[in-house]
Amino acid sequence: MIKITIKDNLLYINDRINEAKTKSGRKDNVELIAVTKTVDVDIIKEAIAAGVTDIGENKVQELEKKIPLLGNSVNYHMIGYLQSNKVKYIINEVKLIHSLDRLSLAKEIDKRAKEHNMVVNTLLQINIAEEETKFGLKSSEVIPFIEEIQKFTNLRIKGLMTIAPFTDDKKLLRNVFKTMVNFKKDITIRKYENVSMDYLSMGMTNDYEIAVEEGANLIRIGTGIFGSRNY
Ligand SMILES: *Cc1c(COP(=O)(O)O)cnc(C)c1O
Repeated sequence: MIKITIKDNLLYINDRINEAKTKSGRKDNVELIAVTKTVDVDIIKEAIAAGVTDIGENKVQELEKKIPLLGNSVNYHMIGYLQSNKVKYIINEVKLIHSLDRLSLAKEIDKRAKEHNMVVNTLLQINIAEEETKFGLKSSEVIPFIEEIQKFTNLRIKGLMTIAPFTDDKKLLRNVFKTMVNFKKDITIRKYENVSMDYLSMGMTNDYEIAVEEGANLIRIGTGIFGSRNY
């Protein structure tokens, strides 16, 4: 039996990304975040040795456990629902918070950022398909939310994030990603003070090729790299 390694998986994914870029005529960069929830530190180290530069976790507790063990060998992304009372534990450890989805959280991030005399980079999470089971702003809430967060001086919105529905319906997935691109365009035109649309964080194991074809430049892959786990 041939053993498929993390390195093989990464090579395969990078090929698929490049193919999707070629197909859509893109020349800009697509960054890969390896989603390491429930993955042991030793396996994460193997992924880092194979070229992974950024990892994503969806629980503060897991980040707190892994950061001391991995140090600055990798960049950290908070990609899951973030409780306001846990912001203080990770605020100066993560490169990007992908899951800004409510004003109370923005307020807490801004407050803690001020304490650290820093500016915190976030992405607005949008629940494009408005699935009950998922977090994120509804489409109609996005612009009013951005207008509200203008008052926060130590928080920046660097782009948008979404989790597409888990489905084989390619047309539906493409529509979700196209809607994100439209949001990006619309928000860019409005030239908000502390908002820039540098990142579109979308695409997971099930749908990253379509996401890249449509314009994703941050993709978050877990299963495709580490195999399936019980989340
Ligand atoms: C788990 C998770 C991923 C990765 O999902 P896979 O299907 O395993 O690639 C991406 N983004 C978020 C927010 C996640 O929670």
